[in-house]
Amino acid sequence: MRTSWRIGRIFGIEIFIDSSWLIIFALITWSLSSFYFPHYHPGWSVRMYWLIGVTTSIIFFMSVLIHELAHSLVAKKQGEEVRNITLFIFGGAAQIADEPDRPSKEFRMAIVGPLTSIALAVVFGIIWLIAREINQPLAALTRYVAFINVMLALFNLLPGFPLDGGRVLRSIVWGATGNFRRATRIATWAGQVLAFIFIVWGIIQVFAGSFIGGLWIAFIGWFLHSAASRSYHQVFLREMLRGVRAKDLMTTDFKTVTGNMSVQKLIDEYVLHHAGHAFLVAENGHIEGIVCLEDIKVVPQEKRATTLVREVMTRKEELATAAPEEDGNVILSRLGSRDVGQLPVIERGQVIGILCRSDILRNLQLRTELGI
Ligand SMILES: [Zn+2]
Repeated sequence: MRTSWRIGRIFGIEIFIDSSWLIIFALITWSLSSFYFPHYHPGWSVRMYWLIGVTTSIIFFMSVLIHELAHSLVAKKQGEEVRNITLFIFGGAAQIADEPDRPSKEFRMAIVGPLTSIALAVVFGIIWLIAREINQPLAALTRYVAFINVMLALFNLLPGFPLDGGRVLRSIVWGATGNFRRATRIATWAGQVLAFIFIVWGIIQVFAGSFIGGLWIAFIGWFLHSAASRSYHQVFLREMLRGVRAKDLMTTDFKTVTGNMSVQKLIDEYVLHHAGHAFLVAENGHIEGIVCLEDIKVVPQEKRATTLVREVMTRKEELATAAPEEDGNVILSRLGSRDVGQLPVIERGQVIGILCRSDILRNLQLRTELGI
């Protein structure tokens, strides 16, 4: 289970720190304070090494954050919804709800990250030029941060999806061919080739005697590989759902049940009898929530007789709603952002259907099988 902590909000964007980030923060601080600075700058006190080490680490991660903020702000300006930014072991990631709808938008959104890192490198480089005659620790710090920002820009510019360079590549192919899916496929393929090179290079390094460094490179390759295939699946899902409306996905012949009913009774009298998989929970015409097969399944068999539907349903307060004409992608991201599995489809104040996450998947599966 992954844990993350919210550390604040900038320009309306929530900033999170993933627990894995602590490892990399500790590792970088330790290697800077114990090896890097003592090696290049002998003669400082131990306290000074750690002070500069910690400060450098913090500024490094602020640089990563600024890089991600640059992506997010351009995305927001272009009308995209930015959910949050999370710092984790491999840097940072901005959660942008939708893929851009035009190549030019994607190009701008992707390129601004590396450009921001270059700009930061220039700023720190200038401070270094000024400080190197005056203040040795400040000079050492800014020199390192300038260098790391250049590396950040170069690494992110590698042309493999989902790195920024891969997105730039995709936007160019997309712009040239007009085919979003093919552009994604090419950029993902480039990402996987890149991942493969990293893994092989890492293994060679391990055998050449650089164990930790080699392992780290291979690890980055593995991460790139899984990120590339995950992103591709997401894009594929989005493409498939384009043009599908809430009313095509929802269940309309749902039954209404009361919250006081036991889960066992619901299964016996409704699920098995009517073969339904989504139910509206209401009392005297007041909606209390929705219960889907997914909610029922998690209740252990021996507890089903004593568990009430009310206890397992998704309560009305947690439910988002949809209109019948709304797009499948919008609904999928709404379900994702609320972290709920179902929502009622409402028309003129009336619940006309229930939509579960499993309905979306079932629809996709059906369409894949039929080749639509
Ligand atoms: Zn980036």
